[in-house]
Amino acid sequence: MNENDSERIAGVLASLGAGPASSEEDSDVIIVNTCAVRGKSQDKLYSYLGRLQGLKRKRPVLIGVAGCVAQVESDRILEGRPFVDFVVGPDGYLRLPEILDRCREEKIVLTERSAAWPEAPPGLLVRKSPVSASITIMEGCDNFCSYCIVPLARGREKYRPFSAIRAEIQDLARRGYKEVHFLGQNVNSYRDPDGGASFPTLLRETARIEGIERIRFLTSHPKNFTPELIEAMASSPRICRQLHLPLQSGSTTVLRRMNRGYSREEYLEKISRLRKNMPGIDLSTDIIVGFPGETEEEFRETLSALDEVRFANIFSFRFSPRPGTEAARGPDDVPVETKKSRLIEVQSYQKIIQLEYHRSLIGRTLKVLVGGPGKKDPTAFSGRSEGYQVVNFRSEEDRRGQFVEVEITTAGPYSLQGKIAGA
Ligand code: SAH
Ligand code: SF4
Repeated sequence: MNENDSERIAGVLASLGAGPASSEEDSDVIIVNTCAVRGKSQDKLYSYLGRLQGLKRKRPVLIGVAGCVAQVESDRILEGRPFVDFVVGPDGYLRLPEILDRCREEKIVLTERSAAWPEAPPGLLVRKSPVSASITIMEGCDNFCSYCIVPLARGREKYRPFSAIRAEIQDLARRGYKEVHFLGQNVNSYRDPDGGASFPTLLRETARIEGIERIRFLTSHPKNFTPELIEAMASSPRICRQLHLPLQSGSTTVLRRMNRGYSREEYLEKISRLRKNMPGIDLSTDIIVGFPGETEEEFRETLSALDEVRFANIFSFRFSPRPGTEAARGPDDVPVETKKSRLIEVQSYQKIIQLEYHRSLIGRTLKVLVGGPGKKDPTAFSGRSEGYQVVNFRSEEDRRGQFVEVEITTAGPYSLQGKIAGA
């Protein structure tokens, strides 16, 4: 979502006649778009700002901080950093023209929230990919997981009108886009603010739009992952047999302390239902290790859940206390060394699972949507399978933006290699 916001910011800047600079030294405006979800991403902002201070001494560049850290910590950002010209939260990007106009005279802080969806004019986004488009359909979160800063940074849920989503996808299809990713902190609680259509309805409707051959979405909350949504996914081959469903912990007692609203068993039951309806579906998840009070036994339950589900991919993190959240009020009592070793254990465990899974794909032919060429070798291309695996292959012809059938020949834990089928 943060990257999609950057595409929106780039669109607003482009509408003012600006374009990307070749380096920081060459730019007139630098906007740092930030993520507050974990302490580490926030720390990176402050060290980066330190570097920008040096640049500002040399050149009259305008420096702005956008995104979730801007929303939750505008005071801390500005304290002792007079070189920061403006701070703008996620609801304020459309007002960047006015901010840029005024910020040479006075420091601007814009962190007001709008209750309504801030709809951008059609075609405003500057998209990085010419084939695959992210579309934010909802923002904010009403769930209040005890560790999570998102409801504080992005506010309560708000939804983009379905008519605007549909119009944008139709336009993308006309321009040759093949894939859309619906984005939101909790996409399955989507409700069209105009007609009330649910997320399963949105999926079914967009799957009818000619030209878009792949639909994905991120993130779904297991608690509202309903049978109706499973049916909608299974109803069209255009909806990818791939799902990111964050588990966070394999232990019911930890899940309760996280305020996740489901137990280990309920999660596993949803997974078997999904697999029954869509055999071969590729699943990925998020895992937090070292949540306050996590015992060795509770941690082992996360490992056993990985073993049971055999995810195609995971994103794993050490718990970090976030200001203003419930989990940050108590002690952060799992020692940092334990958190580190648990993270390494989770990741090495998953690496074995992934390697085994990827090896089982050798000899299979996967349909790959080609993103771009290899960085060094112009005959090397890289794309994604329906299950979202990275697949690399060679081709003398330029294959960007095409679907290519690739026969898998070798597999590593994080990517697959193959050759064009029949070649
Ligand atoms: N809406 C999604 C997650 C959004 S945040 C969901 O409900 O699952 C992305 C991921 O960051 C989370 O899934 C979680 O694994 C991780 N995360 C969030 N807060 C965290 C924290 N305080 N410490 C460590 N990881 C965290
Ligand atoms: Fe954060 Fe939970 Fe909302 Fe996801 S569902 S954004 S983890 S509060």
